[in-house]
Amino acid sequence: MAKSSGEMTPKPKSRFLRVKCADCENEQVIFGSASTPVTCIICGRTLTESRGGRARILTPILEVLE
Ligand SMILES: [Zn+2]
Repeated sequence: MAKSSGEMTPKPKSRFLRVKCADCENEQVIFGSASTPVTCIICGRTLTESRGGRARILTPILEVLE
C-alpha cells in the first residue's frame, strides 16, 4: 500500500465564536470549547458554562470564526 504523501493534520474541533452579550450587547470573541466558564468582560454575565467538559453557549452567536 502506498503511503500517502500528505499527512492529515487533525482538525481541532475548537472554534472561536463571536458572540453578543444578551444583557449589555457587548460583542466578544470566545473560544467555542472553553473548558472554563466565560463571562462578559463588560457586565460579567455568564456567556458559556462547562457541562461535562463541553462548553454550552448561553448567549447569541453572531459568527463562527475558523
Ligand atoms: Zn455583558
